[in-house]
Amino acid sequence: MLQILKARLHQQYRTFPFPEKMPAMASRYRGRPQIAAGNCKGDCSACVAVCPSGALSRGSDNRPVIDMGRCIFCGACEIACKEKLISFSQEFSLAANKKAGLLINGTEFKTAEAMAGELKKLFGRSLKLREVSAGGCGACEADVNVLATPTFDLARFGIQFVASPRHADGLLVTGPVSQNMKLALLKTYEALPSPKIVIATGACAISGGLFCDNAEVNNGVADLIPVDLFIPGCPPNPWTILEGILRLMGRL
Ligand code: SF4
Repeated sequence: MLQILKARLHQQYRTFPFPEKMPAMASRYRGRPQIAAGNCKGDCSACVAVCPSGALSRGSDNRPVIDMGRCIFCGACEIACKEKLISFSQEFSLAANKKAGLLINGTEFKTAEAMAGELKKLFGRSLKLREVSAGGCGACEADVNVLATPTFDLARFGIQFVASPRHADGLLVTGPVSQNMKLALLKTYEALPSPKIVIATGACAISGGLFCDNAEVNNGVADLIPVDLFIPGCPPNPWTILEGILRLMGRL
């Protein structure tokens, strides 16, 4: 017991005081993309050509549009853009309620809104989630896992991961939903009592990510079950995941 108390005194309080204080992201962190004012030179599509995930396109005004739901935040487009129109900020607030809300085209980004009505009343202060890894590589799952460590301390917000869907208020899905996980995902969703919410976490769960349009995947969750929150990233930073869930709960 003495040893435990000594260790506690030595370690002190390790939980970061988020959301009162915003975490400083690592200098190499690539957060929300930004499209600067200006025009592409002629029919230059260098950014589109280097994008490995098909996240980049050119909009009706011929300027770049980045779909954060497909982006893996590799930074290749920033290097390829000779006009310096594309850059990545340190902003880790990326979640949105709709897939279309993840498009970055130079206009203002709208962050996720809180659940409304009965959902807010039921889940605003306590949210039990069942995680389904639907063909994920393990990266999104690792960044969800880390939320249980003292630095993030997910439980202080009333959020917990539970083993049974019968005990859950919502699903947190990672992975592109491979064909052999489709039935398991649908059965898990059915097993949740209503009302329920769904959170798609990571590029794969939102759009299929790098596996998009492969015959073995379902291009994410949204075509199979209704999704309340999309959290982009490959994988999303743990702060992005936590911030998105808190926004959905109406806690930010
Ligand atoms: S950072 Fe995203 S949009 Fe840019 S090239 Fe990489 S995947 Fe494509």
